[in-house]
Amino acid sequence: MFHIFLHFLVPLLASLAVSRQHWLKIWLIMMATMAVDLDHLLANPIYDPSRCSIGFHPLHQWPWFIVYGGLSAFKQTRWIGLGLLIHMALDSIDCQWTNGIWYWLGG
Ligand SMILES: [Zn+2]
Repeated sequence: MFHIFLHFLVPLLASLAVSRQHWLKIWLIMMATMAVDLDHLLANPIYDPSRCSIGFHPLHQWPWFIVYGGLSAFKQTRWIGLGLLIHMALDSIDCQWTNGIWYWLGG
């Protein structure tokens, strides 16, 4: 549960750090990027706390990280890209905590 809490907290802190004026809008955009977890619906079971998301779910594969990084480079999509990068970083930390790995390579 703590992991899910971090998915709210870290973007909140990041948006507050970036702008005291527009933090709410930035935070809401980053919250919307949690839709990336919809790829969990393809997995069985949908949620498994001991499973590593990174490298397992289709939108949690490393080639996407380049796309997410690219999105954060453009002004129009900056917060979407950054939200996704924060999300992947948190999921990766979760992998480390629960499985002792940073990235699930199969097997
Ligand atoms: Zn995720």
